[in-house]
Amino acid sequence: MNSPPAYGEAPRPVLLVERVSRVFPGGVAALQDVSLSIGTGELLAIVGPSGSGKSTLLNLMGTLDLPTSGRVEIGGTDVTSLNDKQLSTLRGRMLGFVFQQFHLTDGLTAVQNVSTGLLYAGVPRRNRRALAEEALGRVGLAHRLSHLPAQLSGGERQRVAIARALVHDPALILADEPTGALDTATGSSVMELLTDLNQEGTTIAVITHDRDIAARLPRRVEIRDGHLTSDTRSGAASALG
Ligand code: ADP
Ligand code: MG
Repeated sequence: MNSPPAYGEAPRPVLLVERVSRVFPGGVAALQDVSLSIGTGELLAIVGPSGSGKSTLLNLMGTLDLPTSGRVEIGGTDVTSLNDKQLSTLRGRMLGFVFQQFHLTDGLTAVQNVSTGLLYAGVPRRNRRALAEEALGRVGLAHRLSHLPAQLSGGERQRVAIARALVHDPALILADEPTGALDTATGSSVMELLTDLNQEGTTIAVITHDRDIAARLPRRVEIRDGHLTSDTRSGAASALG
């Protein structure tokens, strides 16, 4: 989907957050003057304590909310210039979401849940099942295609959600506390999966309050009381395990 940068050029950002603030009605300044650029192929953590503004930032990055001031660009498009229909098209094609509580649909099988990730991506219906099966294979669930969420473990449910987030080959996956509802071992294996997918080329931002999880990712952006306080990269991609 994304063409690689020409030789010698800095990679074009997938996502650009420029001097963004978000003030909620009532006056809570959840984010103040935050700037952040994410390049193709990155895997980063956005880390901070509860109430620091992580979900507010994720909502802005995901075009689920608009800033009070500042700019958000996705793939070079200023999202504040789009109407609701254009925004949902952009979201459906460019972004994938993973949430703490999986957000699978109870009555749908794993394949059907993953297929819903293609609904807004402009993929013809006849192609959806094969793509959904392939995505489930990539997350290690080729043997669980027809299972319902209730027949899957927590870790398997989160893998289905990850397959749904990547099935349309998005430019960026946004994961909000993806291990928050899992035990430590299962959470680690979900982080290993995200690391593997990143090494295959997927760009991923993981929002977490867990400093141990953040410490294992190649880039960490820290947020505190609505301010971005640090942005550090490890030398080598210090992957898991
Ligand atoms: P985190 O995800 O890091 O826990 P949030 O982004 O959810 O933090 O919240 C940041 C701050 O903004 C908190 O003080 C929270 O109470 C406030 N906040 C979040 N959403 C709203 C909202 N819709 N209306 C008013 N205040 C909000
Ligand atoms: Mg949150």
